[in-house]
Amino acid sequence: MTIGAALDAAVARHGSRDALIVRHQQIRWSWTELREQVDRVAAQLLALGLTPGDRVGIWSPNSVEWVLAQFATARAGLILVSLNPAYRLHEIEYALNKVGCRALILAHAFKSSDYTGMMATLAPELKRCAPGALQAARLPALRAVICTGQPPPPPGVIAFHELQLAPDDAARRRLAEASAAVEPRDAINIQFTSGTTGSPKGATLSHRNILNNGYFVARAMRFSERDRLCIPVPLYHCFGMVMGNLACMTHGACMVFPSEGFDPLATLQTVQDERCTALHGVPTMFIAELDHPRFAEFDLSSLRTGIMAGAPCPIEVMSKVIEQMHLPEITIAYGMTETSPVSFQGAVDDPIERRVSTVGRIQPHLEAKVVDSGATVPRGKKGELLVRGYSVMRGYWDDEARTHEAIDDDGWMHTGDLAVIDDDGYCSIVGRAKDMVIRGGENIYPREIEEFLYGHPAIRDVQVVGVPDARFGEELCACITLRADARLDAEAVRAFCRDQIAQYKIPRHVIFLEVFPMTVTGKIQKFLLRQAAREQLG
Ligand code: ATP
Ligand code: MG
Repeated sequence: MTIGAALDAAVARHGSRDALIVRHQQIRWSWTELREQVDRVAAQLLALGLTPGDRVGIWSPNSVEWVLAQFATARAGLILVSLNPAYRLHEIEYALNKVGCRALILAHAFKSSDYTGMMATLAPELKRCAPGALQAARLPALRAVICTGQPPPPPGVIAFHELQLAPDDAARRRLAEASAAVEPRDAINIQFTSGTTGSPKGATLSHRNILNNGYFVARAMRFSERDRLCIPVPLYHCFGMVMGNLACMTHGACMVFPSEGFDPLATLQTVQDERCTALHGVPTMFIAELDHPRFAEFDLSSLRTGIMAGAPCPIEVMSKVIEQMHLPEITIAYGMTETSPVSFQGAVDDPIERRVSTVGRIQPHLEAKVVDSGATVPRGKKGELLVRGYSVMRGYWDDEARTHEAIDDDGWMHTGDLAVIDDDGYCSIVGRAKDMVIRGGENIYPREIEEFLYGHPAIRDVQVVGVPDARFGEELCACITLRADARLDAEAVRAFCRDQIAQYKIPRHVIFLEVFPMTVTGKIQKFLLRQAAREQLG
């Protein structure tokens, strides 16, 4: 099935029910209203001269326009290119050129310096040309620029709301033809990976990849048309657009957006006001919500389920979320952009200990194995996790070399994550291969020490990284952010560890930071933290 056909199915089954709520833009649409808007935008995009297979970039925080762009490109057979809102101008130029974007949707007034920079880059051409005839030297493939929001865009730029006007009959006919030609295996989306370990890669995903993944993710949470999912995670990432939007659409559940970027207060308020039944987040988001000074004021009793994913989910945090946020059926999911994203997910009726301490079992229709030096290891042993099946991406756009590094000849995606699968098939992620520290020949998984240190009442968040050491090759450094008003020094941290964890795992160095370097998906960038620790320790 294609995403367009799935939208028709949602309208046929749930037409008048709530489909989309965007709180910061006062939008409330039913499935019927949403499809009408989607079809207008899809027809108008084709009327700009775009043809199926063309790439359309979007550089914007979460918004109604983002949702429309997602479904409209799918309807019209265009390929949506999700651009990280944290990208700066030169990164945007690189990404747009890398995939040859013919149109760019960008949020006006968002990150105003970048917006102004982009307009300055395009200005000489924009003044001279009609929409659709752009000839920008630094962006040679680009033909159309579409702006969302106020005030009205400069000459030559199309206002997004013009795409929401009713198209003429010819445009409607063009859309019907384009829609009918879309195949489930067609590319629908190019997503760049988070850039947690280095420079982001453009994973190319098909309708089949992401639509099925959204469906199975929601099925594991037992979604129905009675569910309302609060989505504070970004749409530019699979977490928002697949585990959020497509999970909802395939089950008739309502998508609820609290804010443009993540805002813990707006999230809590939205869950309460909209009686949300589900809530997604990366661990740092749940920590920020639980830690919010006004947390206790909110009635979160409507919540039932949701997903914590994207980064290691500390047991402490999961337990608090279950108890204090009324999320008895929350699950952990594990995945990566290249697998659409989810491959492992807990079940809502898994025993609590399993649910908080593992990422669950392999999703239906996917396979997994754990290997060490090319050989599959027995259950219970650590190694690199490999995943195969419907959700594995088509490849990195225009990058055969990196695609071959990631997906082998037998179709296995090499995740770069270290995992253990137990006798019952439950998987634990023990770290990233790149983050493992080797101290005096001993493999140390920072995750284990982080879990332990989370138990200290003064510690808000902690990351353990390896730093060079003359004697042992590498030594451990704990990077810590403290709770408000809490005090702690390095010696107290080490004393807390003594007799509780093996001597060689006690961090030799401890540094205290105000904040950690983060991706826009809310993930801590350990490679930057490692650099910071190295610099600070000289
Ligand atoms: P890049 O590949 O650019 O370095 P990234 O790998 O962080 O960035 P994503 O595709 O967004 O980009 O994230 C996938 C990664 O997130 C996984 O490979 C894994 O390391 C981590 N991850 C996701 N879910 C979990 C989880 N539940 N527990 C532990 N780690 C997780
Ligand atoms: Mg990755």
